[in-house]
Amino acid sequence: MRYVLVLNCGSSSIKYRLVEAGSGDAAAGGIVERVTDHGAGMRQVIDELEAAGPELRQVVAVGHRVVHGGDAYAEPVVIDDAVERTIEELSPMAPLHNPVNLIGIRAARAAFPDVPHVAVFDTAFHQTMPPEAYTYAIPREWTEGGVRRYGFHGTSHAYVSRRAAQFLGRPYTELNTIVLHLGNGASASAVEGGRCVDTSMGLTPLEGLVMGTRSGDVDPALAAFLSRTRGLSVADIDHALNHESGLRALAGHNDLREIWPLVDAGDTAAALAMQVYTRRIRKYIGAYHAVLGRLDALVFTAGVGENDPRTRAMALSGLEPLGIRPDPSANTAPSHEARVISTPDSPVTVLVIPTDEEREIATQTLAVTGLT
Ligand code: ADP
Repeated sequence: MRYVLVLNCGSSSIKYRLVEAGSGDAAAGGIVERVTDHGAGMRQVIDELEAAGPELRQVVAVGHRVVHGGDAYAEPVVIDDAVERTIEELSPMAPLHNPVNLIGIRAARAAFPDVPHVAVFDTAFHQTMPPEAYTYAIPREWTEGGVRRYGFHGTSHAYVSRRAAQFLGRPYTELNTIVLHLGNGASASAVEGGRCVDTSMGLTPLEGLVMGTRSGDVDPALAAFLSRTRGLSVADIDHALNHESGLRALAGHNDLREIWPLVDAGDTAAALAMQVYTRRIRKYIGAYHAVLGRLDALVFTAGVGENDPRTRAMALSGLEPLGIRPDPSANTAPSHEARVISTPDSPVTVLVIPTDEEREIATQTLAVTGLT
């Protein structure tokens, strides 16, 4: 057996999974939390893997999730010192993520010096977007400084859109798909023949859909207004839009499992929250339908998308004129498998496909190192 170790280093945690190279199945996995020293955290990962079995000795490559690859990376890349420097240079674009991703990479390269390490970027899949999708209508000097739409969750959008084509038995290069990745963070993408042509997140992961604690789209004048009328600092506004907005602001909770009971108990704020949340999704479905022209498949994925039939039903209601005909009983049938939730005669096939970013990172790591 050969294994790929997949690492996702956050500011205070290291998630890891040992993936069997042939099947893509997980042999071990876990999370080390409350990490303050990533070198020590990495040693704990190794200890936990050794305790789980002898597999660790057969790690042939390490795949790292890296949030921002900027314009530099449209594909995964084998990490060397120059790649580390580029990830560092991109840190201003993702100050909460890239610096800790890099700390994780350095600790892992020290711990596993003899195998290739690969960076798989959240932004990479979206690098195929055309200029008219990624360009903001803002002063040229800002654009020249790298201010543009990048998009995130790319590993999930790539995996899920490809799986949709496999599941439907259609060539990936011929299928037009909208992917709705609805987790705590949420984003939509329009994928035309396997190439991303638009996505809802932008320069940062704040733009687009309403999320657990993030506002998604707001009037860009909001920051200026709040600073003028309330004297709020840019840092305060940034924090509030990222951490104190979205469903949490509207309903008091960011987890749908806590919001639906409130809705059922007659809480009007919670009911409005779900209307705002699902209306935004519907608007993006309509927009991406227009972008794609012909829509073949609409796919729900991630925590909410995979597990919450009520949100799916609300998000799809009224979309019959777009050829989207959900099947209520298929939608509510409990399952953790990839499945169709539209009627057999629906022009657009609606699917639920569980995402698996670690498996995708392992697949891409093997492909770029030629170890497949
Ligand atoms: P992350 O962005 O942290 O990876 P996930 O994709 O795991 O997030 O999604 C987490 C969210 O999924 C939770 O906040 C919750 O709203 C939703 N969720 C998870 N399980 C369920 C469930 N069984 N029913 C409804 N919603 C769920």
